Amino acid sequence: MLKNFCPDLFHGFYIERVDSRRSRISNCCLQEDRNMPTTTISFDSHSLVEARNYYRTSGELPKSCSPCIEIEKANGVSRRKQLIEDQPYKFDLEKPKLKKIHYNCENICNLKCIICSSFNSSAWLQDEIKLGLPIKSKGKVGDCATNKTVFNLDFTDLEVIAFNGGEPLATDDHLELLEHAIIHGNSYNIVIEYNTNATFSVTDRVKDIWSQFKHVSLYASIDGTEEQFEYVRYPANWYDVTQKLDEYRQIPNVNVSIGATIGIHNIFYADKLIKWCKDNNFFLGLNYCLESFSLKNYPIHLQSKLHEYLESLDNTNYKNTLLDMTNLIEGNYTRDLNPFKLLNKLDTIRNVSWKVSLERLYNLDPDFFDKH
Ligand code: SF4
Repeated sequence: MLKNFCPDLFHGFYIERVDSRRSRISNCCLQEDRNMPTTTISFDSHSLVEARNYYRTSGELPKSCSPCIEIEKANGVSRRKQLIEDQPYKFDLEKPKLKKIHYNCENICNLKCIICSSFNSSAWLQDEIKLGLPIKSKGKVGDCATNKTVFNLDFTDLEVIAFNGGEPLATDDHLELLEHAIIHGNSYNIVIEYNTNATFSVTDRVKDIWSQFKHVSLYASIDGTEEQFEYVRYPANWYDVTQKLDEYRQIPNVNVSIGATIGIHNIFYADKLIKWCKDNNFFLGLNYCLESFSLKNYPIHLQSKLHEYLESLDNTNYKNTLLDMTNLIEGNYTRDLNPFKLLNKLDTIRNVSWKVSLERLYNLDPDFFDKH
């Protein structure tokens, strides 16, 4: 494998619609500096080709790949490294072909997770208004649902369709793309992937469409259990979600695993999550939280307490991954204390308390956290 190679640079296409005609596109869902909204949806768009050429000529990742670059600098497992490990499709540096569409569904969602905003969740909007926070959904200015420009792509070589949202299972947005893939692609060769909040049942129509694909991977966004889950994924209900996971597991052709976003808010509860996944036989993927709850913003004076906690975990790969994640804390960053301010504000309107639900964090230094 070539140093720094990323399959998504050469085979991936991410599309995030901003209104009925225009979309932002990039090689993958993580890349920063996405281009200006465009009506031209092409796998050979200038910005995508430029990123590939930058890698070809320099052997380095382009600047837009900074989320992966930063994690790799801190010796962590970036999305790029995960993709290579998972090998969802065969890579070819010389012949870029569209093999993976990463489709950002409408921002319709029933949850308002603390790590999210109205950019990705319509439910968040009312809390942003109540608290006088910036309205993040303004980045999506119009009716995205009627934007079908993704159909301009050539589906012939497609091997993966991945959905994020909003909550992809909350609307029919994903189904229209899948129906198009059945007609214009080779659907029995295509794997479909969802990041889902696991609060929606799967209808017979969805099951029928899924049955026409190679298989379906559902990554349930669960990054805590019980009280911690309900605080972070507000206002989801832990019991209901575990019932939904059981339902999903009964569907032929479907694999369910857990995708946990790890940040300051939940790292002290990793032991409970790991145990629950083990007891229930779920594969657990640990992902970096990249926004304000990133470990980059973990209070440096509490670093030894975090290491003490992580060292106390059973010796597993999870422990090693979590310890690697803490390398981010040592980076030379200006720490943003807004996450704690945000939690204090949210608690005033949601009738919850992070100081209780996430007490392992709060109790490390109540005086420090009370100041925000
Ligand atoms: S951000 Fe990471 S996963 Fe995305 S294209 Fe760049 S290296 Fe690949």
